[in-house]
Amino acid sequence: MSRIHALDALVVNQIAAGEVIERPASVVKELLENSIDALATRVDVEIGDGGSELIRVADDGEGIHPDDFALAVTSHATSKIAGADDLFRVRTMGFRGEALASIAAVSRMRLRSRRAEAEGGCELLVEGGQPGALQPCGCPVGTVVEVRNLLYNTPVRRKFLRAVATEFGHISEQFTRVALAHPKLTASLRHNQRSVYELPPTGQVLDRLKLFFGSDLADKLIWVESQTAEARIWGYVAHPSESRATRKGQYLFLNGRWIQDRSLQHALGEAYRGLLMTGRYPVVFLFLELAPELVDVNVHPTKAEVRFRDNQPLYRLLLAAIRTRFLSANLESTISVPKAAAWRFENFAPDRGGLSGPAQRDLQLELAEWARSQLSQFSATATTEGPTSADASPSAAWPLHSSLSPAPAFGMPAVAQPSGSPFDVSPPPVGAPVAESSGADSSPAGFHSGSAGLDRDPGLTQVMQVHDCYLVVETAQGITVIDQHALHERVMYEHLRHRVDQGAVESQRMLVPQPLDFSDREAATLLEHADVLSQIGYRLEEFGGATVLLSAYPAILAHADHDRILRDAAESLGSSGQKPSRRDILDSLLHLMACKAAVKAGQRLKPEEMESLLAQRHLIDDAHHCPHGRPTALVLTRAELDRQFGRLG
Ligand code: ADP
Ligand code: MG
Repeated sequence: MSRIHALDALVVNQIAAGEVIERPASVVKELLENSIDALATRVDVEIGDGGSELIRVADDGEGIHPDDFALAVTSHATSKIAGADDLFRVRTMGFRGEALASIAAVSRMRLRSRRAEAEGGCELLVEGGQPGALQPCGCPVGTVVEVRNLLYNTPVRRKFLRAVATEFGHISEQFTRVALAHPKLTASLRHNQRSVYELPPTGQVLDRLKLFFGSDLADKLIWVESQTAEARIWGYVAHPSESRATRKGQYLFLNGRWIQDRSLQHALGEAYRGLLMTGRYPVVFLFLELAPELVDVNVHPTKAEVRFRDNQPLYRLLLAAIRTRFLSANLESTISVPKAAAWRFENFAPDRGGLSGPAQRDLQLELAEWARSQLSQFSATATTEGPTSADASPSAAWPLHSSLSPAPAFGMPAVAQPSGSPFDVSPPPVGAPVAESSGADSSPAGFHSGSAGLDRDPGLTQVMQVHDCYLVVETAQGITVIDQHALHERVMYEHLRHRVDQGAVESQRMLVPQPLDFSDREAATLLEHADVLSQIGYRLEEFGGATVLLSAYPAILAHADHDRILRDAAESLGSSGQKPSRRDILDSLLHLMACKAAVKAGQRLKPEEMESLLAQRHLIDDAHHCPHGRPTALVLTRAELDRQFGRLG
């Protein structure tokens, strides 16, 4: 190894550029944020070849003073903060003073700017970090930054750039985030001389959402709003019928900045629990406002991640805001069944005699219960933390009656709230329109009685297992196909939850406690949650090192692989990123146990097992969804069969 020497500024900037400038889209983000900080009302973005050839951002902001040009492209030179204390008072997008320097270090950059009081503008060219001489030039008030040949002097990194379309996709995404966070900004985006977006200013984020994501999605958005003394949250969440396979549909903004946050993402997952299938993610556009001193934005080079002083209140605020809102939205009635489908999922039961089906009531009850538990937790903290202002009282924090009125035109008929507690479930909405399959019209009587299906009529006549996976049942009204695993899982879950609520989960003591080896982290997580685990029947003790002593297990899991289950439990307990409530923990453990204890797809069932499973179906409240939100049964009515085979009349 050679001796230590300080790196020269150029190398330092190239290193910094590696962090800040991941790809052309990062440049676009930084330049747009600079324009916002300069109080621009209009920005125009011009891109050539996915940004690798040209990125030009022009704004009508405050401009740069001629004496400041050289500093603007020097690293750690900024007009936005003065001292370290200011890091907790940041109200601007930028403050690190390294973006322009980093960009200039790895491109050919032209900076033109003029302040309002100046007669003319100035221009500075910087090539690979080497600034030329400042030149006068004619230009309008504002700033134009032109970046050409990005990464031309770091050929290895330039090779990492993807196809033009891919890079432009990233640029478009950055543009979208800024445009959503700043709807009053007039903004345009062009690629290779073609206009991609022309955004007029608007006071409504929804206008922008429609433009970027289409009216189909916009029509499925539900307005949410809530606040405490310290934080406010508002925005839109999509109806559960809109979901994505990734988190890409989740837009969270903190004080005007797009952020990613594991804890808040987890809260979103919780808010939609039971409403989405496993592996699907909700679509949300949420704006958080928090006093700057409660969050550290200086923990990530591009500020995409932040650190909250305390993420618990925010977590609860987000979760409860969405859950509360779902309570007043009639979620089921807006799920539409494809018109031509002969089969329909049982949980989309049409209303009978003007009343909504039991599935709908169950869902509402479940949501009500959730929201209530969230509220009680919330108000407990609100009072112990003792905020004194009137704003902080739970009722003010949950203005369900007043300001939570749904924004018009989102296709979410709100259920009238009863006069008592906002969490009392109102009687199911009368005559809520429910999409029906086309067969309903031809024979309404048969269809309607059919919708009761197994719930009403336990008198089954035939049951058959197909593909070791589904049970096909003949009922008085038609045919029902049941997913054996999904149903059994649901039955198990309800059973376990009931037991836990009564403090009566059967636990099986082991004659000889069994030592189980985990990783250090898993062992620590399991021991930390030993008391919750004991509630579901697992007794664990410390054994030294990463070994845990298992002395009892849930009787229902007699033949299960406890090592595997506890490992999974440790993973789910450790991954939530924040301290989940006891109920959350219990709930996720119950889901896990139910899943493990349930018969699997591919398992051949004996006739008596099938019958016992079907019999238990009547014992539970919500047999329509497995705990992961999948439907458990599909119904084909006699009327529908007749219609399909042309036996009308
Ligand atoms: P930061 O934004 O963190 O301060 P930058 O390197 O992005 O660092 O910018 C350096 C400085 O250049 C900013 O503090 C600002 O004073 C000035 N500047 C950059 N872009 C613009 C712009 N579009 N309009 C006016 N001033 C700008
Ligand atoms: Mg900046």
